[in-house]
Order: sequence, then structure tokens, then C-alpha cells
Amino acid sequence: MLPQEIIRRKRDGHRLSASEIAAFIEGITAGTLSEGQIGAFAMAVFLKGMSREEAVALTIAMRDSGDVLDWSDLPGPVTDKHSTGGVGDNVSLMLAPIVAACGAYVPMISGRGLGHTGGTLDKMDAIPGYTSQPDVARFRKTVLETGCAIIGQTADLAPADRRLYAIRDVTGTVESVPLITASILSKKLAAGLGSLVLDVKVGNGAFMEKSRDAVALANSLVEVANGAGLKASALVTGMNEPLASAAGNAVEVRNAVDFLTGRVRDRRLEDVTLALAAEMLQSAGIVSSNQDGIRRAAETLAGGRAAAVFGRMVTALGGP
Ligand code: URA
Repeated sequence: MLPQEIIRRKRDGHRLSASEIAAFIEGITAGTLSEGQIGAFAMAVFLKGMSREEAVALTIAMRDSGDVLDWSDLPGPVTDKHSTGGVGDNVSLMLAPIVAACGAYVPMISGRGLGHTGGTLDKMDAIPGYTSQPDVARFRKTVLETGCAIIGQTADLAPADRRLYAIRDVTGTVESVPLITASILSKKLAAGLGSLVLDVKVGNGAFMEKSRDAVALANSLVEVANGAGLKASALVTGMNEPLASAAGNAVEVRNAVDFLTGRVRDRRLEDVTLALAAEMLQSAGIVSSNQDGIRRAAETLAGGRAAAVFGRMVTALGGP
């Protein structure tokens, strides 16, 4: 299969087969395709779109470009959340310990800020001494012993996405629903999750400003995740104003600690965090209804157990 033929077929609006997509992704990973070819492919997908079947095939091929983690030795469900990004969105810092304190395991592989939106990894890097890129053994040990670990993507997980994303970034092809979907989900599938909750942000502080676009992305993410064998659900939440009363890496960490310890809890942040926690607990099979999930998460928070998990996780990864 010649890469130029695959690019030409997508350029002309044809559906690509799973084997054509897999061959192209193998070429990205192996380094046999040039940046020009990868950029042309991304632009063809950007302009012509992809069917759900093609997006599933792209996601699976990108997942299989590297390692896939296996958590079958953990004695509980493994779950995670992904947010499409916003301002003052430090939800992950509270959510991972809350859900872990309720009995699930949360191996959270987070990213850096994109555009104007803050990245969880940048926030964790503001904690002195915190190792946000541990080796797999330390990552596993932290998840097993504390229930969660918030780290950055390693070079071995979905390496095809790393190369494709860098080229999309400089070729005006970031804002494509199938490419965003495959990029996000290939990393989550490689993380070996049992279930995933997506927080798709909508509003003038989000990438998706219009509700119609946010819902289209949410549907794409859920359907493609399910098609690739990962149980997923999505909430579409507002981003017309910052979530936390802080925006910036270190100040958002402080805000998260204040939230966990009960010193200060921004109302909208609390609503979104508890809603996502309830969805994660329900999809992981820990609670049977959304109401139970909200109650369980709120009690865990009030009892200080989530704050204790956060402290243990930070210490396990070298923080103060
Ligand atoms: N986040 C990702 O990981 N990939 C995208 O393409 C967009 C957001």
C-alpha cells in the first residue's frame, strides 16, 4: 500500500479500510513517512472527515503503535476522566483522589496545556519535587498503594499520536473531530482503562464554543471509545467563566488543596467535580445510581479521605 495512494483516496473522499489506516500509522511510528505525507493525510482527514468505523480503526492503530498497560493485578475497577480543557479547570487534582478514596483505581495520564487551556501535567509540575514522569514500575506502585497517580504521557504510550499531533499543530489540522477523537482515545486505550468519563467543555473559554460542536465531539468520543472496546460516557459542561477562583499552575494546586481540605470550595468547581465523580463511580460499578455517586463522593470529601489520598500520592511521587 503506497502512502500516496492512501492520501489520494482520502483526499478524494473515499472511506479508508482498517488495513490502509493501520499501514499509514505504522509508517508514522516507524519513521518511514515524511512530515509532508503525514501533514497531507491530516489535511485530507480534516477536509473530508472520517466515518465512525474509520475513526475506530485510526484509534486502535494509534493505540497499538506503543505499549498498552495491563492493570489486571489490581483488586478494583480502573477508571479515568479526560477533559477537553478549560480555564481554571483543576478538577483532575480533586477527582482522582476522590474516586480513589471511594475504591476505584485512577491511573491518570494527563497532558500539558493546549492553546489557552491549562494542562493538568503543568499544574502537577508546580509541586516542588513531584515526579510527573516516573518509570512504569513507580507509576504502578503509586496506583496500587495510594489508588491514583497523576503523571504525564510516557514515550512508549501511543507514540504515533505524539508525531501526528506535532505535525497537526503546525499544519492547521488540530480542529478535526476524528483526529481529536483518535488522539485522545488512543492514549486512554493505551492506559488500559476499564471505563472512561469525558468532560467536553463548551463556551468561550473552551475549544468548542458552540453547543452543537461540543455535542458532536462528545458523541464521537463516546461512540469511537465504545467501538474500540472501552466503556465511555460524556458530560458537556460550561466554560464561559473559569471554574476555579484561580487560574495558573501553582495557584490552582493551592486551590485544589484548599478544596480537598475544605478550606475553600468554589461552588461551580464542586458541582462539576462531584458530577464527574458520580459518573466515574457509576461507570466503574462502585455505585448503582448517579445520586448514590454524588452522595458517596461528597461524604468521602467531607471525611477528609480524598485529601489524605492526594497527600499520599504526592509523597509517593517525591513531592513534599
Ligand atoms: N487533546 C489531545 O490529546 N489531542 C487532540 O487532538 C486534542 C486535544
